[in-house]
Amino acid sequence: MTTTLDRRTDWTAIGAAELPDIVALRRAIHADPEIGLHCTRTTEKLKAAIAGLPLEIHDSPSTSGFVAILRGGAGNGRTVLLRGDMDALPMTEETGLDFASKTPGAMHACGHDAHSAMLVGAAKALSARKDELAGTVVFMFQPGEEGHHGARFMIEDGLLEIAKPEAAFALHISPNAPAGVLVGRPGPLLASTDTVHAIIKGKGGHAAMPHDCIDPIPVACEIVTALQTHIARRVPVADPAVLTITKINAGSSHNIIPGEVALMGTLRTLSERTREATRAAFRQIAEGIAAAHGCTAETSIEEGYPVTMCDPRATALMRGVAEDFGGEDGWSPMPAPMMGGEDFSYVLREVPGAMAFIGVAQEGTDPRTNPPLHNTRMTIAEDVMARGIAVHCAVAERFLENGFDA
Ligand SMILES: [Zn+2]
Ligand SMILES: [Zn+2]
Repeated sequence: MTTTLDRRTDWTAIGAAELPDIVALRRAIHADPEIGLHCTRTTEKLKAAIAGLPLEIHDSPSTSGFVAILRGGAGNGRTVLLRGDMDALPMTEETGLDFASKTPGAMHACGHDAHSAMLVGAAKALSARKDELAGTVVFMFQPGEEGHHGARFMIEDGLLEIAKPEAAFALHISPNAPAGVLVGRPGPLLASTDTVHAIIKGKGGHAAMPHDCIDPIPVACEIVTALQTHIARRVPVADPAVLTITKINAGSSHNIIPGEVALMGTLRTLSERTREATRAAFRQIAEGIAAAHGCTAETSIEEGYPVTMCDPRATALMRGVAEDFGGEDGWSPMPAPMMGGEDFSYVLREVPGAMAFIGVAQEGTDPRTNPPLHNTRMTIAEDVMARGIAVHCAVAERFLENGFDA
């Protein structure tokens, strides 16, 4: 009979013991934020923090990401992946904190500093219990979440093949949920995120003689409203889409009809089916309306993130862990998905798993009115990172011991 970590492992105390080092690490990363796929100073800090642990490190050739693999001594063959992202956003911090960003135009406003620091805490705590650990843990430290497809690059680099996970989990902080509470839902959690473009070409000329031109501006306006008609009348309300035209570029003066108009926008959906259908409709509507007026439309779609789809068994496992720590109030079911996106979706396309939000509202604040993610004044209650570490450890332990049958 193998000895396994038992359910009485006091992850709360273990998380609390890791907290001081993890707060220091998080602050160091917070003060020195990096954007994109190559967060090399952040990677150095993370690797220094896990140096000496019994982990196999595998670098991502195309990014500054890496996976650290912990092979437990009481292995039953199961493998679980825990993921923390590490990149910042292109915005200037206004929190006034002692450890605020030293780089104007870069800020950890999405909490990825805390995510990677909490993952270090979990790597330390689980490494200390390696001999009793009932399987393998893959810690995925990932840059480039904020629109740079970091997870996809790491998957293409083959980093999920070295120790193939059968389940994958991630936490994302939320300043708009009570401290320590986990928030999630089975099924779609976050949306797909494509960028749509159209260039409407007409014939430019004198603004006083439109009959000698083909004015693309009213055509572009008609396309914008027709797209909204499509969303309202053709997309099922239970499987929705958001299509927001965010930019229209045309013209130079009051007396010139421009030759073309450029449109761009974002398309969000909660299923691949509606995603495909709405992409096709975008092309058909832009090209068809342009043609009806003697214009042409060149359309293109920049592929964004897939829908973040949580496996109901994995969400149930996270919920069980949250309720172990916080009782019934430890888990708050999300009534509906959010239309933001997340590149952990690429991992969840390969491996069943789940992501949940963990509330980090500061004591004495109203979570509903706190500066949200991506705000220049976003702050977090750092103590909650102890809970985050505990959740990571307990989720890994539970999956390694019982799979999804916990
Ligand atoms: Zn973000
Ligand atoms: Zn984020």
